[in-house]
Amino acid sequence: MKIFIGKEANDFLKKYNLNVAFYEIAKDFDEAEKKLGAFSFPMVLKLISKDALHKTEFGGVKVVWAKESFEKTFEALLETAKKNKIKVDDILLQEFVEGLELIVGLKKDPTFGHVIMLGLGGIYVEAIRDVTFRVCPINDADASEMIHDLRGKGLILSERRKLDVERLKKVLVRLSKLPQKKKDIVELDINPLILNGEEARTVDVRIVFD
Ligand code: ADP
Ligand code: MG
Repeated sequence: MKIFIGKEANDFLKKYNLNVAFYEIAKDFDEAEKKLGAFSFPMVLKLISKDALHKTEFGGVKVVWAKESFEKTFEALLETAKKNKIKVDDILLQEFVEGLELIVGLKKDPTFGHVIMLGLGGIYVEAIRDVTFRVCPINDADASEMIHDLRGKGLILSERRKLDVERLKKVLVRLSKLPQKKKDIVELDINPLILNGEEARTVDVRIVFD
C-alpha cells in the first residue's frame, strides 16, 4: 500500500489531464514568501503530512485573505502543527477556488472492479448522504445520468448559477478511464472538486495504491 497526498497526488492528476487548483510547495517561510508572487488573494495554506490526513480537524487549512496577513497566518499554521505534534512534510500554497463543492472518487470494488462515485460536497455530505456510483469506465451519457441521480442535482444544474456542467462530465469520464491505465489504484478521493462557471478544479486529493 502506498499513499499519495499533497504534491504527489496533485501531480498524478495533472499527468492524466485532470485539473487541479494552481499550487506551489514550500518547506519554510522564506521559500513560501518567495513563491507568493504567483498568487492573488484570497489564497490558501495547507499543512501536508502523512501523519494527519484530515487537515481541517487540526486547523491545517487556512485562508490568507490579504498579503498583509500572510506571515501571521503562516506562523499560526506552523504553531498548529507544533501543538498537535505533527511532522510537516510540506506547506501547500494554493489558489482559492470559488464554486460548488463536489466529491468525486474511485474505489476498487472486489465484485465490480473499479467504480466511480459522485456526490455533493461540503455541508451536504454530512446532512444528506447524496452519492451515486457507476462501474468504470463511463461515457458522457453515464456522466449525465450520475448528475441526475443526485437528489441535490438542482445545485449543479441551476440556471442561475450557470456552472460548467460539461466540464464536470468531462472530469467524470476522464477519471473513470484512469483505472484502465493505473490498475493499482485502490482508492482515489477528490474532496472537494470545486465547480464554477469556468472550470472544475481539484483542491484536495488523496490516492491509495496497492
Ligand atoms: P481536509 O479535507 O484534509 O480537511 P481540504 O484541503 O479538503 O482539507 O480543505 C478543507 C475545506 O476547505 C475544503 O473542503 C473546502 O471547503 C475548503 N478549501 C480547501 N482548499 C480550498 C481552495 N483552494 N479554495 C477554496 N476552498 C478550499
Ligand atoms: Mg478534503
